[in-house]
Amino acid sequence: MQTVTLNNGVRMPLLGFGVYQIPAEDTERAVSEALAAGYRLLDTAAAYGNEEAVGRAAESSGIPREELFVTTKLWVQDAPAEDNTRRAFEASLAKLGLDYVDLYLMHQPFGDVYGQWRAMEALHREGLARAIGVANFYPDRLVDLILNNEVTPAVNQIETHPFFQRTEYQDLMREHGVQLQSWGGFAEGRNDLFTNPLLAEIGKEYDKTVAQVVLRWLTQRGVVAIPKSVRAERMAENIDVFDFRLTDEQMAAVATLDTGGSLFFDHHDPEMVAWLAKRRLDA
Ligand code: NAP
Repeated sequence: MQTVTLNNGVRMPLLGFGVYQIPAEDTERAVSEALAAGYRLLDTAAAYGNEEAVGRAAESSGIPREELFVTTKLWVQDAPAEDNTRRAFEASLAKLGLDYVDLYLMHQPFGDVYGQWRAMEALHREGLARAIGVANFYPDRLVDLILNNEVTPAVNQIETHPFFQRTEYQDLMREHGVQLQSWGGFAEGRNDLFTNPLLAEIGKEYDKTVAQVVLRWLTQRGVVAIPKSVRAERMAENIDVFDFRLTDEQMAAVATLDTGGSLFFDHHDPEMVAWLAKRRLDA
């Protein structure tokens, strides 16, 4: 598997496996199948409610810990954020059954972001999180976080797919040494992504599916992708994307699909902010 090198020297697989919306009772099987298919990066979160199952699958796979790259995420914490962030991290680590995580992400740019980030910096310094980063940060918030703290996030995991491509934002992140990781790389199938005529036409040329074209397009841009599937045949399909290369013309054609906006959430919408603020997880 190809890797990217994060701003602190840690290497991260270019393609991994996401487990959002996989029910806890299906997650151990799905992750075991994903590991058997060759995935080594596992992306979960406290908010997904399936960290224990991810941990069980990692343990029973017999794959050496250092060959895995496990990401989990901090949900928005009540004050005092420093104490609560550490408690939330310890709860995640215990559920995963691990001594450390490879990447710990702040899941949302809300709450006491600076208190949460300082606590995450401490976890990183102690070696409990090899890298720390953020998710769902828009450019203004990301730059402010970078300018006012010691550790620059290694990763920003944001909605990125053919209908919301984030190319200018990727350039800005690159300037600051922040790796772009895509969530919702298939837009969860919205806008009829899997039958998109342009993507299907490109796929025909290489005998590849639309899903494979999308993952090739993301990874060719240097974007880390974490497709989710509960089906073993799709897991195999989604990791089989490194034996072809889109031409410059095809990359330019895919660029025309960009709508420049989210298909999911508006993180600037006060109602969305209030909804997220009300959601608290039991440790
Ligand atoms: P996604 O990967 O864009 O799409 C998943 C959907 O595509 C599922 O319905 C899946 O169905 C289907 N699918 C997968 N492979 C396919 C294929 N080859 N052909 C046809 N359909 C296929 O959506 P996502 O799960 O939202 O995003 C990926 C990961 O990003 C998540 O799992 C999570 O780890 C992360 N994420 C992070 C955030 C955040 O706020 N940081 C938000 C959302 C997601 P089946 O399962 O039935 O195959």
